[in-house]
Amino acid sequence: MAWKLSSALMLSFAGLLLTTGFTVQPVNKTRKDYEATGDIVWEVPMKEKLIALTFDDGPSPRTTPMILDLLARNEAKATFFVVGKRVEQFPDVIKREALEGHEVANHTYSHIYFNRQVSAVKITDELARTQKMITDLTGQNCQWFRPPGGFFNDKVIYTARKNGYTLVLWSWHQDTKDWSTPGVDKIVNKVLNNLRNGDIVLLHDHINGSLQTVRALEKILPELKKRGYTMVTVTELLRHKKPKTQLSIIEETKRHPIGK
Ligand SMILES: [Zn+2]
Repeated sequence: MAWKLSSALMLSFAGLLLTTGFTVQPVNKTRKDYEATGDIVWEVPMKEKLIALTFDDGPSPRTTPMILDLLARNEAKATFFVVGKRVEQFPDVIKREALEGHEVANHTYSHIYFNRQVSAVKITDELARTQKMITDLTGQNCQWFRPPGGFFNDKVIYTARKNGYTLVLWSWHQDTKDWSTPGVDKIVNKVLNNLRNGDIVLLHDHINGSLQTVRALEKILPELKKRGYTMVTVTELLRHKKPKTQLSIIEETKRHPIGK
């Protein structure tokens, strides 16, 4: 797994692309703008104690089944953002994900970073190849797409929308950085110490042989249950999305100032 930019930096990067690049879209968009149009989901603030665990970069023949066992034991559902070329190698793993009630979503075919050099045709192909495999293997055809590294620009958003996808990123305070193997406790504390209703938690089920995420989940899942949380898919989380009031938009902007 390659490095990732911090979430805040990513948004600045997206803004930079907009101002310097190819696009005819308005520049200097904020997170609020993207949320208002429904083009990107970071989290779904709510009163209910629901949380969406998401796993990127799989499937892995070793760690994904271990994670599925843990999810089953804790009555948790999750969303797996799978990479098409790995689905080709390990199709049975995503079949199991779907059979056990989890959501299988699109994380491109080759885990390419969609910078501004990548064409709309390439983006469309990366999404379509993976989606066909997911649908053929699982019968699911969900609309969520997570761009590798969290890279996006308006070409990515427009191409995704044109093909029926919505970008799903993650709560900025729930970026566990488990891909960098920071230690089990760091992953556990990141999730549990920052918990808010409606969070989307970023985890990985394929990290070059590391079991840190699995070990962290052994602690996180029972604790979430103990605190009264239900772990649901992104689709289920979004079913609880409330129409925004002006006040809630202002509050949210305060919580997530532009570029912070
Ligand atoms: Zn990834």
